[in-house]
Amino acid sequence: MSDNPLQAQLAQLQAAWVAQQQEDIPALAAQAEQLASEANCLPIRLQPLRDQLHKLAGSAGTFGYPVLGQTARKLEQCCQSWLQQARLQPEQLHQLALQLHALLDYLELGVTKNHLSMPDNLATPGSTVRILVVEDDSELLAEIDQTLSNYGYETQGLASGQSLTQLLEQGGIHALLLDISESASGRPLLDELQAWQAHRYTPIPLVAISTQRDFATQMRAIRAGAVGFFPKPVDLIALEECLSRQTQASQDAAYRVLLVDDDQALAQRYLTVLQAAGMQVGWVENPEKLLQQLHDFHPDVVLMDIHMPTYSGIELAQLIRLNDQWLRVPIVYLSAEADSRQQLSALLKAGDDFVSKPISDQHLVATVYARAQRARLVSHALTRDSMTGLLKHADIKEQVELEVERAQRQKVPVSLAMIDIDHFKQINDTYGHAVGDSVIRALASLLRQRLRRIDRIGRYGGEEFVAVLPNCTHQDAQLIFDQIREAFAGLMFRAAEDSFQVTFSAGISACEGPDWQTDGLLELADQRLYVAKRNGRNQVISRGPSGS
Ligand code: GH3
Ligand code: MG
Ligand code: MG
Repeated sequence: MSDNPLQAQLAQLQAAWVAQQQEDIPALAAQAEQLASEANCLPIRLQPLRDQLHKLAGSAGTFGYPVLGQTARKLEQCCQSWLQQARLQPEQLHQLALQLHALLDYLELGVTKNHLSMPDNLATPGSTVRILVVEDDSELLAEIDQTLSNYGYETQGLASGQSLTQLLEQGGIHALLLDISESASGRPLLDELQAWQAHRYTPIPLVAISTQRDFATQMRAIRAGAVGFFPKPVDLIALEECLSRQTQASQDAAYRVLLVDDDQALAQRYLTVLQAAGMQVGWVENPEKLLQQLHDFHPDVVLMDIHMPTYSGIELAQLIRLNDQWLRVPIVYLSAEADSRQQLSALLKAGDDFVSKPISDQHLVATVYARAQRARLVSHALTRDSMTGLLKHADIKEQVELEVERAQRQKVPVSLAMIDIDHFKQINDTYGHAVGDSVIRALASLLRQRLRRIDRIGRYGGEEFVAVLPNCTHQDAQLIFDQIREAFAGLMFRAAEDSFQVTFSAGISACEGPDWQTDGLLELADQRLYVAKRNGRNQVISRGPSGS
């Protein structure tokens, strides 16, 4: 029946939805008959029926019954117009009941497949980033492999005889790195790639390397999906920065979506679909708990239904907007409201975007993903150091305090590292400030790639960094930073015709048993950093002279 767990789960939700409709639709028809049998019935009595039809119009399409949804929408509009009359006409209500019964036939007709195919190159947060590399020059290829693996990427080549399209179809590739110089074997792949990208939901980012840098060559690359273009000799540090930007999502925590919808079946389906796309989803069932859930869940995006009992989505959006704390969180209405004037009016009151139900799974994922990505970017821009994307001085100090407090409370170790680039002044003096900046960015990028998602990293000063590693002893921190130190020392930097290497020194301190000392950890790490410098640099020190 179903070939994967997601499809099986969706099929189950759908079966439950159909079963529910088989009960609800006859009940609606009975309501209409009841109203028809009453003399002089006031239109207001029709409201609950209209609301039910609204809900049905919004959900049927998503569960694979678009015609049922469209018909329900027409009946909803009829009810809406009858609400303006002085009295309800029994004959109209009788007709309505018949048409409601007829809705059941649509359920018998079977479903329109809303087959879910996820955009698979949206790197799932936390996963390893895999890059396909096609480069004939074996020396350059070795350098690329070395640099990218230093940064924690996985690289893979195209085996002889293997088709690019087939490989991409298999999924799991997050970006392509092709040498598209005139005679390079990456060049003929461009046509195939361009054709493949044209059918893609989201293109796979291409980073091109070339000996030519003319307009036509760059345009060929653009048409095949290029987001970066690097003439030879390739600046591999800048190239990594470009890859890192393109695959950023995988380095961040999952996007968080808070769903406010009273339709439980529909909410469950959205939840399943968004979770399958790698997002974390919270559901607000009781609107009175909305503010509390916002506070606990910290969403990147709020998805808000409009027509709900007791409080409308617009009112709830206005409530969120009373609070500056959530200003950066976009509110997207997801509603069966078809009237564009109503939609505009909702947006003018509060909220940032409007998506109409029924919505396909892909559309839902793309909308939420794009909004979350944008919101993260804005939030990053505000709290991050613009040059490195790491936390600013005050923010990393705050994180140190929070993590040390937590460690002390839970009696779980935490380590701190203070890192300073060696002889950095000489780099500035020899190669200029701009090259110095690229060295700082390279170290920032390396720290980000090598540390875990729960670790916090900040730019403490010019070429000085602080990292906090929760649940990590000083011995483990020593091992980790020694590895990072070696990886950094292995990076080859370029400046004009010159290439050079750089090292760093680090001091580590920890809050851990048996004494759980919490005071002065930053100072202690700084003292050990000083010892590392004095001992000759390019080393990590995590203990005092007595072994303490
Ligand atoms: P040591 O091994 O003892 O750390 O030697 P050092 O040369 O690195 O000494 P120090 O840490 O005192 O020098 C830091 C230099 O970094 C001084 C400053 O001009 C430079 N610097 C600070 N911020 C930036 C920046 O954002 N970009 C660049 N290019 N240079 C910076
Ligand atoms: Mg220094
Ligand atoms: Mg310094």
